[in-house]
Amino acid sequence: MDAYKKNAVLTCPHCGLRQGVVMATQAVVSNVQCNGCGRTIRAKDGEHCVYCAHGDTPCPPAQREKEEKDYCWGCTSGLAG
Ligand SMILES: [Zn+2]
Ligand SMILES: [Zn+2]
Repeated sequence: MDAYKKNAVLTCPHCGLRQGVVMATQAVVSNVQCNGCGRTIRAKDGEHCVYCAHGDTPCPPAQREKEEKDYCWGCTSGLAG
């Protein structure tokens, strides 16, 4: 399955510009340059990544992590296929 949301809107904490971004599906991105003010948008301490910190959608790795946590392998193993 690769149905994770890849599009997010990132809000710059410096100038408030909202910009649409396409997130990497595997990489955890900790900083992105703002198109408005040119400053670096960073994840805060304790935040997973810049998208989780400043975006409107958690990044694909975080979406996947949550899904795997919610998913019980023990209940479904042997049923697949
Ligand atoms: Zn900015
Ligand atoms: Zn993240």
